Amino acid sequence: MLSKARNLSKSRLMSARQCLKRLWLEVHKPELAVFSSATRAAFSAGHAIGEVARTIYDAPGSVLIPYEGGLEHAIRKTTRLLNEGAQFPVFEATLAFGGVLVRIDVLLPDGHNWHIIEVKSSTSVKDEHLFDTAVQSWVFRGLGYTADQVLLAHVDNQFVYPGGENYLGLLREVDIGDDVVRLNPEVASLVRMARDTVAGGEPEIGVGKQCNTPYDCPFIGYCWPKDEFPVQTLPRVSKGTAGEWIRLGITDLRQVPERQLTDRQQWVQRVTRSGTAELLPGAKAFADSLGYPRYYLDFETIAPAIPRWANTRPYEVLPFQWSCHYEASAGEVQHAEFLDLSGEPPMRRVAESLIRVLGKNGVVLMYSSYERVVIDRLLHRFPDLAPALSAIIERLVDLRRVTEDHYYHPAMAGSWSLKSVLPTITADSGYTDLEGIQEGTEASEGYLEAIDPATTEQRKAELKQQLLEYCRFDTDAMHRLLGYFAGGGPGSAGLTGGRRNE
Ligand code: SF4
Repeated sequence: MLSKARNLSKSRLMSARQCLKRLWLEVHKPELAVFSSATRAAFSAGHAIGEVARTIYDAPGSVLIPYEGGLEHAIRKTTRLLNEGAQFPVFEATLAFGGVLVRIDVLLPDGHNWHIIEVKSSTSVKDEHLFDTAVQSWVFRGLGYTADQVLLAHVDNQFVYPGGENYLGLLREVDIGDDVVRLNPEVASLVRMARDTVAGGEPEIGVGKQCNTPYDCPFIGYCWPKDEFPVQTLPRVSKGTAGEWIRLGITDLRQVPERQLTDRQQWVQRVTRSGTAELLPGAKAFADSLGYPRYYLDFETIAPAIPRWANTRPYEVLPFQWSCHYEASAGEVQHAEFLDLSGEPPMRRVAESLIRVLGKNGVVLMYSSYERVVIDRLLHRFPDLAPALSAIIERLVDLRRVTEDHYYHPAMAGSWSLKSVLPTITADSGYTDLEGIQEGTEASEGYLEAIDPATTEQRKAELKQQLLEYCRFDTDAMHRLLGYFAGGGPGSAGLTGGRRNE
C-alpha cells in the first residue's frame, strides 16, 4: 500500500483536496473512473496551451524534459540542469520531494534563482490554480532551490490572433507568489493526509457539493445512487442539496418532501410518481400559433483555446455547420444544410448561406438560446451582413423554453435536452443510433480532425457524413417535437420531404 503513496503526483494531490475518496479510488480502483467528453476536451485544451506556451517562453538552449525515458530519468535530468546552474528555460521540469512528484510547466532562469510559471488554459486565476501552483513551489523550495517569482500564465481572452503562428500575447501572467506562500502549510498537511488515505481502506465519504467542485469527479457514477429516479436528477438541484437528502436516506426523487422542492421540481416529482407523461395544453396552442414558413435551425461550432485563424480570439465561438428543416406550408417539409471542411475560416460562408436559406419571413425555431449567441457574434464580425442577421435574430423562437414549460416525461430524468426528450415522443429514433458523432463536443472534435491535413480522404468523408447526420438529427428532432405538440400526443411526430445542400 505505502509504495503507491510514495510518489503522489500533483494531480493526485488536487484530487485529494477535492475529496479524499476520489484520491483513494484513483489509486486503487482507477478502472471505475468515467471522464465526460467536456473533461476530455478540457484536458486536450490544457495540453495544447502547454505546447504553445513552450514556443512563447522559448529561448536559446531551452530544454524540454522528456517523459518517455521514465520519471527517474526525468528527475535526474532536471536535477542535473538545476544544479549546474542552467541559464535557459526548462520545460516540464520534473522533481520529487516529500513523496510528491511535480512537472513544472516552465522554469525561467534569473541569475542564481528561478521563476516558476504554471500555465493554465482557463481565462482567469481560480482558487484551485493557486493551490496547484503552491504544490509545485512546495516541492521546488523543499529541495532547496529558490524561486523569486511564482507566476500563473492563463489565457487572455481579449487576445486577437494576428496569424502566422504568432501567439505572443496569448497568455497573461499574474504574480501569485504571496498566495503560494500562504498556502504552504495547507500543502504540507494535505500531503500527510493524502499519504494516510492511500495507505488505508476506502474512505467513507458521502456524496455532496465536492463532487463537481472544483471539477466534475469521474467517480460520480460509482458513488451516487442508482435508483430508477435518483434525487440528483431533479432539475436544477445542486449536488450539495442532493447530497443532504441522500445523507438522510432519501435517494429516490419521489421520496423528497414536497415543501423542499421548487415548483418545477414538484412538477417533475408529480409526473414521476404518476408514471405518465404530461403535455400541457399551452404546447398545442404555441404550435398552432406559428404560421408558415417555419424554420428549424441548429449550428455546430468550435471554440478553440488557441485561435487557429487570424482575427479570432481564444475560445471564440465559431460556427462551421448548420442544419435547417423548413416547412413552406403544413406537411411540406424540406431540409437544407451547410458544412465547410475546407480548413479556411468558415464563418463568412456560414453567415451568407444562412441568410440565403432563411429568407425574410417566418419563425426560426432553435433549441436553447445558443443559436442567438452564434448569430449575434456573426453580426458583430461582419457589419455588412448586420441588417440581414439582425432580422433573423428578430425571428428566433426558443422551442426549448416552450418544452420546459409544457412537457415532461418520467424517462427524461430531469433533463429537457433534445437527447432526453426525443426518445419519449418517438419509438424509432435516438442519438445512440447515430454512427460516430453523437454530441456537440464530438462534432467539434470531428470537424477539427476532418480539416487536419494529416487526415486521409477516406476518414474525412466518414467524418463529413457523421457531421451532416448529427446536425440534421437535431433539426429533425425539433420538427418532430413541434409536430408532437401540435398533435397533442403520441403518433403525431413524423418527417417527410426532400433535401437540399447549400
Ligand atoms: S463522486 Fe463525490 S464522493 Fe465520490 S469520490 Fe468523487 S467527489 Fe468523492
